[in-house]
Amino acid sequence: MKKSLIGYSRNQISDLLLSYGIKEKDLKMRITQIFHGINYRGFQKIDEITSISKNLRGLLGENFTLERTEIKKELISKDGTIKWLLSLEDKNEIETVYIPEKNRGSLCISSQVGCTLKCSFCHTGTMPLVRNLTASEIVAQVFSAKDKLNDWQKNSENRRLSNIILMGMGEPLYNYEEVCKAIKILVDPEGINFSKRKVTLSTAGIIPMIERLGEDLGIGLAVSLHAVRDDIRNKLVPINKKYPIKDLLSALKKYAKSNQSRKITFEYVMLKDINDSLSDARELCRIISGIPAKINLIPFNPWPNNQYQCSDQKKIRAFSEVISNAGYSSPIRKPRGRDIMAACGQLISESRRNNRPLQGSINI
Ligand code: SAH
Repeated sequence: MKKSLIGYSRNQISDLLLSYGIKEKDLKMRITQIFHGINYRGFQKIDEITSISKNLRGLLGENFTLERTEIKKELISKDGTIKWLLSLEDKNEIETVYIPEKNRGSLCISSQVGCTLKCSFCHTGTMPLVRNLTASEIVAQVFSAKDKLNDWQKNSENRRLSNIILMGMGEPLYNYEEVCKAIKILVDPEGINFSKRKVTLSTAGIIPMIERLGEDLGIGLAVSLHAVRDDIRNKLVPINKKYPIKDLLSALKKYAKSNQSRKITFEYVMLKDINDSLSDARELCRIISGIPAKINLIPFNPWPNNQYQCSDQKKIRAFSEVISNAGYSSPIRKPRGRDIMAACGQLISESRRNNRPLQGSINI
């Protein structure tokens, strides 16, 4: 079986070329030509990289391919959101969601098949972790979207896909190495060249990895806070038992300090009578003081047989007002793609939705 060159770093391409006997003096240029062909031009066949010799294309083509991940299903919401169900080589499935907005388009990508976190309000959490995605599979989600949206070789002003959010299935900081490698490829100036400001990673708060992320990447950080007291957060986001609120906030303070005080986004899901009182809102402002922050209020997106309800509109607005009066921006996230089960926390692999057995389930 041929290996995918999607998600290959410059170093990997370099090793490959050296193994083909490419001379040191030509190496740098050849790496750039290949990297650019794959990641900027978006070629789907190695033979299309005509900036390199036919001979070299032949060598690459013997063992490698630029074939895309199979798109098993495409669902388009009435609000324009598109969800793709991708079938990986081992037949595991992941979901990727494109969210068009007025001045931008975001792609919500997955980092794992399933999730270990078991957040009680999240549909993906009902699915055991099957495995981590490889950097290739992470980058390939962006490639599939760019193919579908006809978005290759566009400059950043007229791209349909302008932002990447790591908010799909899985906990990205539990798949640190591959996620990091994928992001480095996505922001490489010779490739798709996403600005680091337009890539955001969302985490439930894996403290040791947050520290590393700041040093390694400097992209946007979103943190799923969802509660202001440990007893409530333990129930909503059980990883809180390991990384409680106080420790999380002090790690975030450090992160902000070492990242030019760039704002951290706190995500807060609005759950009726659980975490939505005005005193919760006031407490939220108190505990995050000292951290440059924005609070994203997410109306709860329901899924079959769950135990929660979304807070009333009025309640959400009042909650938001308390926060904005304290000086923080507190937008209420508009649910997108609910009709195709593409909204936050509604992603789950199709096989799971239909209750078919999972492929090769493991516990980490
Ligand atoms: N594991 C990461 C990223 C995936 S979830 C994290 O925890 O941040 C992306 C966001 O959607 C998180 O803030 C998550 O808490 C939120 N979310 C999960 N289920 C939801 C639901 N049913 N309704 C609204 N938001 C939800």
